[in-house]
Amino acid sequence: MENSFKQKYLKYKRKYLQLKKMFGGSAKKIDIELGFTTFQTLGDCIKELIDESYKIYTEILSSRIPTTILCGGQSPSYYCLAMMNFKIYNPELVDIVILPHSKAGVKTSLIDSFQENRLYCQRLREKNIMLKDNIVIIDGVHSGVGILAFESAIKSCFSNIKNIKKYAINAAKGVSKIPVDKEIILPCEPKFSDTFPRLVIAYHPRDFNDSTKFITEFINLETNPIAEMIIDLAKNYPEIQVEDTDWFRLNNEITFEIQEQRRLREAELRETELREERLREEELREERLREQGGFFTPIVLDNPKRYQCPICKTITGTDAVLYPENVYLFFHNFDCPNRYKIPKEN
Ligand SMILES: [Zn+2]
Repeated sequence: MENSFKQKYLKYKRKYLQLKKMFGGSAKKIDIELGFTTFQTLGDCIKELIDESYKIYTEILSSRIPTTILCGGQSPSYYCLAMMNFKIYNPELVDIVILPHSKAGVKTSLIDSFQENRLYCQRLREKNIMLKDNIVIIDGVHSGVGILAFESAIKSCFSNIKNIKKYAINAAKGVSKIPVDKEIILPCEPKFSDTFPRLVIAYHPRDFNDSTKFITEFINLETNPIAEMIIDLAKNYPEIQVEDTDWFRLNNEITFEIQEQRRLREAELRETELREERLREEELREERLREQGGFFTPIVLDNPKRYQCPICKTITGTDAVLYPENVYLFFHNFDCPNRYKIPKEN
């Protein structure tokens, strides 16, 4: 009898602890340098990171192609940390390998890069790093020097690789100066790559001959509250959405400055919308004019024979007389109603 009570008690205790864990029993307000103020709170940034990491990972996973996601350095590290803590993380099919490789935007000569790749490959072999045949490199991509050098190092070291895709995680459109397979725009990206504590060691070419500095694991996880929050939330995602947790509530302080940034952003968005709407209207008008087509009577000039528009007064070359059907040979002012009409002499 006593025994079954004890069992029941233990069962309830387990259940209680499980629930407590699920609903963020360890959630706390994080006191950390946030960098420059944007329209997003810390909570918003973590939500953005977890939502997008889940999207990236599930998309790669659902292709059913054995793939290794390479986290080359600090920029993608928080995204990779989230992915590795999702319940759906399935390293048999899609694994994540952390490989520090820093170029800091410095280009090297062909000979130097050959030497760099050779040394880097030695480090990979020492650690017995294995990669699947298909690779996705995730990184912040600006000049592209870093990701291209990393790609070249990986290619030169592993002969089994069939395909390397590059995913850029950037704060704004057009930041990437090289073509990539996917550009993901995440406004909080600079905070994860530059402001929050480092998760991956910086490993520069000058250290490529030093194997002790080649650390292919996350560093200082225990003392990093951002990492703690991400791990905690990723474990129960997507069943529990980030915004429904205590972690989010405690770290979603909308200060006056954030409010101000939101106001500015909304005004900007509205303006862009208006501009786009005006553009669409303009295009529609153009299309209607083009469809209407029809004819107009041009003024005929001599020596050589050319046409002039009676409305906007533009004068054509001689081709417009030879090929009147080609309305693009007759330049008009942008607002001239004759623009898409065919000139026809009386
Ligand atoms: Zn005209």
